[in-house]
Amino acid sequence: MTAVTRPAAGPVDPAGAAAVLRAASSVLLVGHLRPDADAAGSTLALAVALRRIGTDVVVSFGGPDPVPGLVAALDEHGLVVDSADAPEAPELLVCCDISSEQRLGDLAGRVSAAGDSLVIDHHASFTGFGNHHLVDPQEPATVTLVRAVIAELGVELDAELARPLFAGLYTDTGGFRWGGPGALRLGAELVEAGADPRTLMDAVFGTRPFAWLAAEATVLGGARRDPDAAGGAGLVWAVVDPATASRFRDQTVTLVGQLRATAGDGVAALLTETEPGQWSVSMRGTGTPDLSRVATALGGGGHAAAAGFERSAGGAEEILGPLRAELAAAAG
Ligand code: AMP
Ligand code: MN
Ligand code: MN
Repeated sequence: MTAVTRPAAGPVDPAGAAAVLRAASSVLLVGHLRPDADAAGSTLALAVALRRIGTDVVVSFGGPDPVPGLVAALDEHGLVVDSADAPEAPELLVCCDISSEQRLGDLAGRVSAAGDSLVIDHHASFTGFGNHHLVDPQEPATVTLVRAVIAELGVELDAELARPLFAGLYTDTGGFRWGGPGALRLGAELVEAGADPRTLMDAVFGTRPFAWLAAEATVLGGARRDPDAAGGAGLVWAVVDPATASRFRDQTVTLVGQLRATAGDGVAALLTETEPGQWSVSMRGTGTPDLSRVATALGGGGHAAAAGFERSAGGAEEILGPLRAELAAAAG
C-alpha cells in the first residue's frame, strides 16, 4: 500500500487541502443550494484542476430548487450533474462556499456517507461540519482559497480556470468594492491568464428576458422603508411573490443590491416567497449591525454585510416581526 500523507481531521492550509485532494481518485464537489457565482466558480475551477491531475470529478448543487442559469455559463466541460445523479457515497466530498450542512440541500446526507470530506469556505457562520476545513472568514470569496489550492496542486492557471475564479471573485467582492488590493491583484492575475471580464460578465449575468422589466418594476415599486428599524439605521425591504420567484429565478437575486443602494447606512432585505409558505430572505448592509449574527439567530448564516435565512411563514409580516427584533438586538 502506498503511504498517503493525508492530514488529520480539523483545520488545513491550502497545502493540506491539496494533500487531501491528491489522496482521492474520485471526488464529488458540491456548492451551496441556489448557487451564486462564488459557489459555482469555486467548485467548477477546482473540478477542472482536479481533472488535469487525473482525478475523477463530478460537480453538483443541492436541490430541490433548479440550478440557476449562471452555472451553465461557467460549466464549460459539462461537469455538473443533477443532485439526484450525484454519487451516493463519494470517496471524497468537497464542499465549496458552504457554511452549514443544511446548505447542501438534498445532498446533505452525502457528508456522513462520504469516505472523507473537505470544506473550503469563507463564512463567519461556518458551523464546523465535515472532516477537513480550509475556512477563513477573512477571505472575500471561496474562489481565493481555491486559487491557493490549485497552486498547491501544481496546476497552471489558464483561461479555463481563470473564468470561473474571476466570476466568483467579482461577485463576492461586489465588483471589487470589498477585498482590498489582494482581490484586485488576483483579479489582474486572472485577466492576464485569459478571463475577459466583459464577455464573462455578459455570459454569466448579462442577458435578461424583456418581461423582467415589468416584474422588476412591480417588486421595486412595492419596496418599503422602515426608518426606525435596526436601531435607527433603517430597513428597506421588498417582497417577491411565488409566481415571480419561479418565473424569474435568475433575475430576482439581483434585486437586493438595488434595495441596498437606497438603504444608506441601514439594512436591505429581499423577502422571496419561493413557493407558497416558504420564504428565502437575502440581506445586505454595511457590516453594522452584523447581519451574520441576525441571520444565524433566524436559522441562516452569512457574513457581516451579506447574509440570509430561510423559513416557513404565512406572510411577509411573519418574517418581518422576528427580523426587526433581531436587527434591533444586533444594533444593541
Ligand atoms: P445571498 O443573499 O443569497 O446572496 O447570500 C448572502 C450571503 O449569506 C452568502 O454568503 C450566503 O452564502 C449566505 N446565506 C444566504 N442564505 C443563507 C442560509 N440560509 N444559511 C446560511 N447562509 C446563507
Ligand atoms: Mn455563495
Ligand atoms: Mn462566497
